[in-house]
Amino acid sequence: MARAYNFCAGPAALPDEVLFQAQEEIADWHGVGTSVMEMSHRSKEFVSIAEEATQDFRDLLSIGDDYEVLFLQGGASSQFSMIPLNLLGDNPVADYVNTGQWSKKAIAEAKRYCDVNVVATSESQNFSTVPAFEDWALSDNPAYLHYTPNETIGGVEFDYIPEVKAPLVADYSSSILSESLDVSKFGLIYAGAQKNIGPAGLTIVIVRKDLLGKAKDFTPAMFNYETHAKSGSMNNTPPTYSWYLAGLVFKWLKRQGGVSAMAELNKRKAEKLYGFIDNSAFYANPVEPRYRSRMNVPFTLADDQLDSVFLKKADEAKLLNLAGHRSVGGMRASIYNAVSENAVDALIAFMADFEKAHG
Ligand code: PMP
Repeated sequence: MARAYNFCAGPAALPDEVLFQAQEEIADWHGVGTSVMEMSHRSKEFVSIAEEATQDFRDLLSIGDDYEVLFLQGGASSQFSMIPLNLLGDNPVADYVNTGQWSKKAIAEAKRYCDVNVVATSESQNFSTVPAFEDWALSDNPAYLHYTPNETIGGVEFDYIPEVKAPLVADYSSSILSESLDVSKFGLIYAGAQKNIGPAGLTIVIVRKDLLGKAKDFTPAMFNYETHAKSGSMNNTPPTYSWYLAGLVFKWLKRQGGVSAMAELNKRKAEKLYGFIDNSAFYANPVEPRYRSRMNVPFTLADDQLDSVFLKKADEAKLLNLAGHRSVGGMRASIYNAVSENAVDALIAFMADFEKAHG
């Protein structure tokens, strides 16, 4: 079977090994006689799958006992509401950094519940950078500070963790598990699964236990972290198959050498691709080099009339999903953990050939 190289920003490529293992187990998991999809989420078999996946995730990021790890639904987008609902308490103010389209969505939703202080924004630079930390206009006593360490659309990534007094809240949807992370610096980390974790349908939240217990009275039970913390993320039927597949991805990551091994590989892949783009007069990336995302590489062609030809030829070469986000156009190669170095090499070779033919 010839699998294509998939550069989709999400739902994104999954490791071949994981897919083949899932295929083997799909109709009869470990001799039980049913698929994981057909199991009760309360069965001892599924509970063991869920617990093992949760433990493997904790191991990969060395998450301490002072944090809950929740496997939720509703996408990362639901977190834009759950965070203010659960973390504001009586505090009327939260700080937000605006570095792109996902920050903006988080801000828009938080405005329903509190005064949002946008401490810094790179909107006037077309989100091509991260505003200098020294210039952030932090509030005196915000409930938390929210930021987006990796902006999937703009391809902008923080190369540091901000040091602030308030609990730090981070949308790690597109860079979780791509490198090691000092979770103890955060109040809350969240990530939609469909990039570096597994299939869509699951959102992981890591939240420091002492931040729980102050949800607003009107918070729906399913939007209250405590509901999920108390029930082992099984207050209702969880997305069982996505949870199982995420577990297979975590085992695969452990076999690869964990997140530090992924960090090395991801750095190499990104350096190769940006290096090629920078050496070409035909392709360009607009992001300030220091803040270029290791995960999402947007690029433009010298002549945007060639975009559709580029995408058609790429498809024919089995290099899929290279169109930029519909809001910005151009191209984007997402090179998450499961996108191999071979895939990046193939993309670069294709881009070089295309430039020769059309440049
Ligand atoms: N945050 C970031 C950084 C994202 O990339 C995305 C999705 N691409 C989201 C939030 C929204 O995720 P979801 O579709 O799971 O709601």
